[in-house]
Amino acid sequence: MERPLQPGGTIGILGGGQLGRMSAIAARRLGYKVRTFDPSAGACAAAIADEHVTADWSDTAALTRFAQGCGRVTLEFENIPPATVEFVAKSVPCHPSASVLATCQNRRREKEFLRASGIPCADFAVVSSLAELQAAVKSVGFPCVLKTADFGYDGKGQVKLPTAEADLAAAWAKIGGAGGVLEAWVPFQMEISVLVARTVDGRTAVYDPAENIHRDHILHLSLSPARISAATAAEARELALSIADKIQLVGLLAVEMFVRDGRIVVNELAPRPHNSGHQTFDAHETSQFEQHVRAVCGLPLGGTKPLAPSAMVNLLGDVWRDGQEPDWTKVLADPSAKLHLYDKGKAAPGRKMGHITVTAPTVEEAMRRAEALHAAL
Ligand code: AMP
Repeated sequence: MERPLQPGGTIGILGGGQLGRMSAIAARRLGYKVRTFDPSAGACAAAIADEHVTADWSDTAALTRFAQGCGRVTLEFENIPPATVEFVAKSVPCHPSASVLATCQNRRREKEFLRASGIPCADFAVVSSLAELQAAVKSVGFPCVLKTADFGYDGKGQVKLPTAEADLAAAWAKIGGAGGVLEAWVPFQMEISVLVARTVDGRTAVYDPAENIHRDHILHLSLSPARISAATAAEARELALSIADKIQLVGLLAVEMFVRDGRIVVNELAPRPHNSGHQTFDAHETSQFEQHVRAVCGLPLGGTKPLAPSAMVNLLGDVWRDGQEPDWTKVLADPSAKLHLYDKGKAAPGRKMGHITVTAPTVEEAMRRAEALHAAL
């Protein structure tokens, strides 16, 4: 059995975005050394790391250098080739595994895994040609949504087909004719997500669901706890635990779910820290980033209880009006608000640049204040 990697050791992180940056901050706070790997030299996690390797995912010489001296390797980005993880795992324990990554990064494999595991998810059919799409709409029915198998996120690579009048050939062309899944549309009342951590020896920790509110297909607000019944929250936590066990997760997994009439339909899996868990940094016993580190290193997992109701609002590049740095004192003057900026350099519209977490006596109050701070920028 793999031995825990104690603080003082070196953790390698594949990917250098904000999720890696915040994981690196958590790891360094625990006394680990951190090495990051990303094709970009300017990756925002690099500033936190002791060492940063800039190379392509397929550069085995660079991967060998990166892995040398690491006691554990993990990842923060979903679209890393599983072959990269497989290569690194030959010399260092790497969590999550290439197989978990391969399942979660491809919608077809992900949905097939969920269905085979008896996890409730939207009805779907795998489509690999226009003819298959034409047949699939008959079994799945309308409305439905056609999704690419690979590289989908934040609503990208999706076409909604509202009625039988929908132009299937145009939808097929729009997803690039690359194949994917046709999914039944779920008329949900709310989107939630659950974070679950699991160690190599099967210990688990699960957080209460967060409620997610999107704008233009990008997460805008995440509220904790979600405004759902205790029974629905319990069902969501149980499903996340069951998925973590069935997929043999080691690390952290975010499970995105729809709530429909009080029941859960699982939408997507992300085997890494998740945007909807950022409030755990300031508003929970253990942040998702520290939990991620604890899970991959095989340490005792931390508590998951909320310390207060909270709301997290994303700061997209749009907040930098005319490229100007916003006046952050407006946020910093609020004692219940915490500002997180990722030092990503150029602010482009839609680019995730930071977030604010607000804690308050109720989640409604936290949401109201987070929205007000966001609007004031
Ligand atoms: P995804 O990239 O699969 O996470 O989807 C992005 C967003 O599209 C989700 O957060 C939902 O708001 C919406 N969506 C995706 N699939 C469905 C579905 N089957 N039914 C209803 N809404 C969906």
